[in-house]
Amino acid sequence: MRRFALLASLTLLATTAASAPPAHRAAATAHNEIGVDLAGIDHSVQPGDSFDRYANGGWRARTQMPPDRTRIGSFVNLADVIDTRNREIILGAVNAHAAPGTDTRRIADYYTTYLDQAGIDARGTAPLQPILAHINAIQDRRALSAALGETLRADVDPMNATNFFTENLFGLFVSQGLETPDTTMPYLLQGGLGMPDRDYYLSDAPDMVRIRTAYRAYIADMLSLMGVPDAPARAGRIFDLETKIARAHVGAVDAQDPTKVEPWSRADFARRAPGIDWDAYFAAAHLGGQQNFLAYHPGPITGISALVGSEPIGVWKDWLAFHTASRMASVLPRAYDDLRFGFYGRIMSGQQAQRPRDRRALAATSGALGDAVGQLYVRRFFPASARADVQNMVHNITAAFEQRLQHIDWMAPATRAEALHKVRTLIVGIGYPDSWRNYASFEVRPGDAFGNAWRAQEYEYRHQLAKLGRPVDRHEWWLFPQTVNAVNLPLQNALNFPAGILEPPFYNAHADPAFNYGAIGSVIGHEISHSFDNLGAGFDAEGRLRNWWTPADLAHFTAAGQALVRQYNAYEAFPGLHLNGQLELGENIADVAGLSAALDAYHASLHGRPAPVIGGLTGDQRFFLAYAQAHRALTREAAMRAQIATNEHAPDQWRAETVRNLDAWYPAFNVRPGQALYLAPADRVRIW
Ligand SMILES: [Zn+2]
Repeated sequence: MRRFALLASLTLLATTAASAPPAHRAAATAHNEIGVDLAGIDHSVQPGDSFDRYANGGWRARTQMPPDRTRIGSFVNLADVIDTRNREIILGAVNAHAAPGTDTRRIADYYTTYLDQAGIDARGTAPLQPILAHINAIQDRRALSAALGETLRADVDPMNATNFFTENLFGLFVSQGLETPDTTMPYLLQGGLGMPDRDYYLSDAPDMVRIRTAYRAYIADMLSLMGVPDAPARAGRIFDLETKIARAHVGAVDAQDPTKVEPWSRADFARRAPGIDWDAYFAAAHLGGQQNFLAYHPGPITGISALVGSEPIGVWKDWLAFHTASRMASVLPRAYDDLRFGFYGRIMSGQQAQRPRDRRALAATSGALGDAVGQLYVRRFFPASARADVQNMVHNITAAFEQRLQHIDWMAPATRAEALHKVRTLIVGIGYPDSWRNYASFEVRPGDAFGNAWRAQEYEYRHQLAKLGRPVDRHEWWLFPQTVNAVNLPLQNALNFPAGILEPPFYNAHADPAFNYGAIGSVIGHEISHSFDNLGAGFDAEGRLRNWWTPADLAHFTAAGQALVRQYNAYEAFPGLHLNGQLELGENIADVAGLSAALDAYHASLHGRPAPVIGGLTGDQRFFLAYAQAHRALTREAAMRAQIATNEHAPDQWRAETVRNLDAWYPAFNVRPGQALYLAPADRVRIW
């Protein structure tokens, strides 16, 4: 379920990277810098009216959205810094002229080949042709089922990264079983749509109608470009098929719910989901010997399989051909790439211009060879002192969270004991994993950008399948070290804080503790709290989905959550478009609980001494400003609308406003009744 710290970017929306401000690390001094961006404050706004505009209005007023971005702010700016470092690493690999078969050589070849647009253009669609010929040869349902099975990839993650999107018919996730923490299981998820969610096909909202009209045109344009005759009519049939798939899907809120997951044996598929020839499907997916699965979305699997049985084979072949070209467009000739950008970039996200090819090549390389790049990254850019410092903060914030559990007045002793056991056995990974992936089986060929991207997906798939039948590794990492994010892993009762986020404006080695507890401390608290959000609280210390709550405690917890749902439902992003408090509940619980624990830990770190005043700001003022500035962002309207429709994270400015739920924020900024964010003490949501 919803796990990413701050941003879970939609898979569809472009990756990060850009011309970067320098990573300014002033000459080392003591831990007494203010950290807070004073020039970013807008003093014309009362903190009690909008804390986001107070903390970030100055910055927003002088910031312009670059044409090739959909979102900028703390996250993206840091991602740019990391990108510049990755560039150094990757260009270093290129210049090393390493021996074939080494990771250094893989990095170099992947990058230079992806970057070579002229070479890609010159090859034309040659790399695509064998795949299209294979699809074209399909004569019956058995062959169709096998072809669909061949597309299965490990491209979704419902538990950690909360990525539910795949253009393939289904998506696969491999991790320990929901109720069997000592057995690794394959989870099958709904898929098959080119747009992010069923609402894009079925909703009457004008924005959705506009986007799906453009999508239908995009399918036709792609078929035309591929030289498919009668493209508009065939595009219409592909679109109609996807609309039927969308009807079989569950929506974003239900899609997350782990209590709907069902264990299915191999034999259950034929019985419960007729249509697909499952023998052919699983054999082609290299899962022929697997007897036990978890159907993450059982209803949709049944519905989608029925469509494989009932819809014309010719339409399915067109659907496969279209999605293959669309999915791989970034490594096909420029006309394909531009066409895809026109829909997914321009229409879906409001992005005006494509990212420069070199930035996309960096992102693609860092994704395909994440641990190889990451290993070089941490060696060069992640000092042991930062790891120790953050380890210490994690320890203090975990202790603060434990204290809150000890003193919660509504919780029965049995529930409290389970909660304490869970927080005390949390596994926390900081910076990078204990062991690195081996890329020896991943063949990177110079001059074959398409094949490299294809084999990267196959490598990831094989890597995940190889976990089946082996002992569960609760120390497994789910982010690469150079990623600007953090994640809670409910099945492993573990957290990952990659080196990429342990940088300003989240962590600043020279800053006063008020800043670091407000920024990275609130991220740490957020991830710890995910273990106790509306979904995380369903998992025990071993990562087993099990109800360890007394009914009265669960009722209290649920009621507190509903107050937060109402608080976020009341925010109106655009006229008539409110936030989805239920979809965002886990993230919003994590924000308010994490911020509370981080503040406690900051206060404890003062050991009874008064906090110093720095730059005219008290300790609590700096703490809250650091938090709100970590959530500073400017987002295009189209991208924000897509986020509200499908993402578990509220847009950043409303995440910053959650300070209104903390008592200490009121005296710190002299917030009074009558101001827009003011909540009477009884209305402030306290979950933990
Ligand atoms: Zn989160």
